[in-house]
Amino acid sequence: AKKIRGSSYVFFRPAMHNIRSRKALIEESLERNLTSGGLYYCLQPQINGNSGEIVGVEVLARWNHPELGEISPLEFIEVAEETGAIVPLTLYLTESMFAQLKEWKIRFGRSLPVAINMTPSLLANPKFFDSFFELIEKYEIQPQLIEIEITEQAELTYSHGILENLLLCKSKGVSIAIDDFGTGFSMISYLTHFPITTIKIDKSFIQKIGQDKKSEAVLKSLIHLAKSIECDLVAEGVERLEEVEFLKSNDCIIYQGYLYDKPLKVHDFEMKYLLRNYR
Ligand code: C2E
Ligand code: CA
Ligand code: CA
Ligand code: CA
Repeated sequence: AKKIRGSSYVFFRPAMHNIRSRKALIEESLERNLTSGGLYYCLQPQINGNSGEIVGVEVLARWNHPELGEISPLEFIEVAEETGAIVPLTLYLTESMFAQLKEWKIRFGRSLPVAINMTPSLLANPKFFDSFFELIEKYEIQPQLIEIEITEQAELTYSHGILENLLLCKSKGVSIAIDDFGTGFSMISYLTHFPITTIKIDKSFIQKIGQDKKSEAVLKSLIHLAKSIECDLVAEGVERLEEVEFLKSNDCIIYQGYLYDKPLKVHDFEMKYLLRNYR
């Protein structure tokens, strides 16, 4: 207990205190120095299992905080979503990535399809999409190279505004993926309400390959569902060859996971996937 102003005592609970001040610090830093304070991204390749070739990358946010060190995106994205900092944060990552694509075109003579994660609050925000499309023009990005991944940290409820924004994306050629498919609130209804082009099957299903017959059966039917509505399919969290064999035999051939690569810093990504393949 700590003595404050003579007579009153306050019980000091270190754990609570730490959690609260950590969150407050993250909130503050998101406000103050989003772009100068260690925010960056890693790139994780998506591989075609038949050809072995890279078919795209996912942009994954990273934050090396000046005081807290590396913070998981699961932690700071949630705070950013609460405070509204998710808008400048996502635009900053998007702009950095677009600048990178433009630079790659000059240095390596090639571009790659890029998937960017977006939370439900962004999807309803027309100002966000105005800026997003301005960036596409500013960096002369082919919209066909861009995919937005709808992450389900919060429930995505149907709204006319979201539908309008997504239809606009699709009309320009931007792909729309559902992330973590199979785990969310009402995934099946998104497929009928929104113009979804890609389904990313959640890693929890992949991990159960060879371990649990029921999950395998569900996984097979998810693959079948995706095919029957002509969606592209990506398997996430692929770690074992056994998983690849199962997925391949069920006609799911795009893989993302540690078996191929973890999310890489840009320089490492360039060395491995752009420089080496440069002809
Ligand atoms: P996610 O979108 O499902 O991203 C995939 C996560 O799985 C990444 O974690 C990635 O590093 C990890 N992963 C990749 N391959 C494997 C594997 O083989 N095994 C396992 N166990 N994990 C694998 P990360 O980078 O920590 O990101 C966590 C989550 O944070 C993301 O999940 C996404 O929901 C969110 N996130 C990350 N960056 C952003 C962003 O820029 N914007 C938004 N809105 N959310 C983001
Ligand atoms: Ca994702
Ligand atoms: Ca995912
Ligand atoms: Ca996720």
